[in-house]
Amino acid sequence: MRLKIPAGAGLIIQKLKERGFEAYVVGGCVRDRILGREPDDWDITTSASPYEVKQIFQRTVDTGLRHGTVTVLIGSRAFEVTTYRIDGEYEDGRHPKEVIFTRNLREDLSRRDFTINAMAYNDDEGLVDHFGGMADLSRHVIRCVGDPAERFGEDALRIMRAVRFAAQLGFIIDGPTREALAYLAPTLEKISAERVQAELVKLVTSAHPEYIGIAWETGITGVVLPEFDAAAGIYQYTPHHMDTVGEHTLRALCAVPADRVLRLAVLLHDLGKAGTKKKDSEGVDHFPGHGEESARLAGQILRRLKFDNGTITKVVNLVRWHDIRYAAEPAAVRRMLSITGREMFPLYMEVQRADVLSQSEYRREEKLTKLSMIQRFYEETLSAGYCTSLRELAVTGRDLTARGISAGPELGKMLKSCLELVLEEPKKNTKKELLGFLGL
Ligand code: ATP
Ligand code: MG
Repeated sequence: MRLKIPAGAGLIIQKLKERGFEAYVVGGCVRDRILGREPDDWDITTSASPYEVKQIFQRTVDTGLRHGTVTVLIGSRAFEVTTYRIDGEYEDGRHPKEVIFTRNLREDLSRRDFTINAMAYNDDEGLVDHFGGMADLSRHVIRCVGDPAERFGEDALRIMRAVRFAAQLGFIIDGPTREALAYLAPTLEKISAERVQAELVKLVTSAHPEYIGIAWETGITGVVLPEFDAAAGIYQYTPHHMDTVGEHTLRALCAVPADRVLRLAVLLHDLGKAGTKKKDSEGVDHFPGHGEESARLAGQILRRLKFDNGTITKVVNLVRWHDIRYAAEPAAVRRMLSITGREMFPLYMEVQRADVLSQSEYRREEKLTKLSMIQRFYEETLSAGYCTSLRELAVTGRDLTARGISAGPELGKMLKSCLELVLEEPKKNTKKELLGFLGL
């Protein structure tokens, strides 16, 4: 088999070989190339020690010498070159206590997590596949290299990686690998929030975000997202649903674009249903205030998983807003726009659409018509250039202080009342009108 590899990687391999070392592209890039996907980065594995690599190439960066990694710069591209290694004993299911360098490629490949990630390639030797990676790629199977329980025991993050690769590639997880990961899911508790976050994001932004369902069945969310498990099994006896929060959420995930903020918001949008379920006298379920409660839980989860503040604010707001009800009328849409701001409104609409499309058929046409009217009024508001924020008001704080109002809460209230007025009557957004309205 011949694979097309970048010129820079070819050059590095050739130079290492000229000096008598072995060198291959390895891991994710080989997998992606065989699948016809464009790899994110090209990793090279070699029998040369980091010291030897540094002697051969002029432009290098000491990326992780202790783990054997030197970055080699060729033109404007960077390639990570890592010495063949065996991961030493694992301290705590997290980090190898030590890595041992080896001159044997097979040993290096055998420390890798899954067969599809454990292949190496160069133009002279072709594909090196000791563990059946090629067969698993064509069968669409995620399978551990070696004994699954042992491999998940060494590094519990591999439990999430298995589900994430399955979701990205649309593969199934091999029976024994799946059994071992479900058995060892509780050990994910040892993994740092940052590593869990990175895997969760890759999973929900993948081609198959519904594989969150596999993370749920195998006990992964039970450890990293217990709030999901608390809500997922809740049955919703209401004509709008007739299924569980979990099933609805998985469908909704598939109905929004693969954007990080959108997918996270949809994942978390209904978690508050666990704590707000009320049955009425007819036996129908209601979830009053679940938007606020879901927003509270979303904030708690995202902070625990160490997301950045920008992401937290956006996701929590989308979760909160999804449950706000209002009429599809121009003034009400402008009011909603004043809450979300221009930048977030399109994302808010995506969440609303996904929510409707993953509910029952009950009054679906009516709900979708309402959403398209909201969309139309939103577009009209933008093209008319109507004011929907304090910033866009025709009067400013300065206009008021010039007329003797002192800066402070009173002034803030006056500006807010102006905004209230122009949200109802946008044509009144002129200095004259507003100053008259304020009696100034
Ligand atoms: P992607 O870059 O899309 O996340 P990848 O397969 O390239 O996928 P990386 O995390 O970049 O994954 O790692 C590169 C390679 O290193 C993997 O293909 C695998 O061979 C090995 N590897 C990475 N993380 C682990 C791990 N936790 N346990 C065992 N091997 C791993
Ligand atoms: Mg990679």
